[in-house]
Amino acid sequence: MFRFCPSCASPHIRFEYAKVFRCPDCGFVYYHNVASATGCVIMVGEAIALLVRAKEPARGKLDLPGGFVNPDEEAAAGLRRECREEIGWDPGPELAFLGAFPNTYPYKNIVYKTCDFYFTVSAPDLTESRFTLDPKEIAGVRFMNPREIKAQDLAFDSARQAVALFISRFSSLSCASA
Ligand SMILES: [Zn+2]
Repeated sequence: MFRFCPSCASPHIRFEYAKVFRCPDCGFVYYHNVASATGCVIMVGEAIALLVRAKEPARGKLDLPGGFVNPDEEAAAGLRRECREEIGWDPGPELAFLGAFPNTYPYKNIVYKTCDFYFTVSAPDLTESRFTLDPKEIAGVRFMNPREIKAQDLAFDSARQAVALFISRFSSLSCASA
């Protein structure tokens, strides 16, 4: 990630362990800490809304709406902002916390380790026509029964865990489609 120390330009900076970069020449230390991100399970009857990613990583794979939390931003507010940006739809203040899972997000030669906070929201009357997709981010929308989603079609590990937890938590959905 660093070829030279950002502080003294020494070429001896090294990746020490897990998340720590240290320069032996000037003492510069950088902690590449876990970042926070969010995701939303939008429940539309027995289906949930999946987005088709338009960009790398995992272009063409399915994802839940959401994204990185900004500095000083409340997680739920970050999720609502990301939804407005990605799909032009605000899930509103009724978000319910589902769970938080680790994820790995490689982007332009940097591997970001994240902790992704997932929320649910019920929007029984929601249709695709209510969305305004950001074409740079999102290539399409799929409304799917969560039990019909193949794990390998999801872009990220954290979303796989969130969908699995969602299915186990909302057993009425499982029964309805059994
Ligand atoms: Zn240095």
